[in-house]
Amino acid sequence: MIRYILFDLDETLYPPSSGLMPAIGDRMRAFLEREYALSPEDAYDLQKRYWFEYGTTLRGLMLEHEIDPRHYLDFVHDVDVKQFIVPNPELNRILSSIPYEKVIVTNADVPHAQRVLNQLGIAAQFSRIFDIVFMEYECKPARGAYERVLRALNATGAECILVEDTARNLATARELGIRTILLLQPEARTQPSARFADPAAQMKATACPPDADLCIEDIAQVGDAIAQLAFLPPP
Ligand SMILES: [Mg+2]
Repeated sequence: MIRYILFDLDETLYPPSSGLMPAIGDRMRAFLEREYALSPEDAYDLQKRYWFEYGTTLRGLMLEHEIDPRHYLDFVHDVDVKQFIVPNPELNRILSSIPYEKVIVTNADVPHAQRVLNQLGIAAQFSRIFDIVFMEYECKPARGAYERVLRALNATGAECILVEDTARNLATARELGIRTILLLQPEARTQPSARFADPAAQMKATACPPDADLCIEDIAQVGDAIAQLAFLPPP
């Protein structure tokens, strides 16, 4: 029986077209350029390499450079979310109609998550925010990230559904019995032409991969998708 819905935050609860993640990517590269005296191109290469190898750029910086994660998180998330995201009362209504406890599971940090949820007008929908600090920086897609969340919720994987926009975060969740809904983002196809495209954007699925139990094209479909999955027998 389903008890919890685990929601990713960035580009799941608001669309990539908002431009918020590219703005945060700009801050990441500014951080790398300043701290390590890199050119914009070298900063981008490092950002990408760490994202692919370690799950987040931050994880790579911690393992290879022992940086202070708090300082990095504050710096990269220092953007005005109000310039990118508009309130979404329709999403609030959809989330209200989902009859399970909803939590956030994000590779960002709690202050960023709170700013995004407040701006969307959906903060009251979520009972808890599990962030990268809670995960002790062992971020998604590490299996340990999901194991920590399940322990904190005192739940089994079979009692949870994960809603994500990043396809590579699904496999480890599924290994734990968590059912998965992937947000497909055909619009991501236009982004890699940008000079410093978000590495995550290049990995977005435009067709439903085997690790997803269900795929949707708009977060507005999430209520129906959860209802559909909740009545299927566990995998
Ligand atoms: Mg995301």
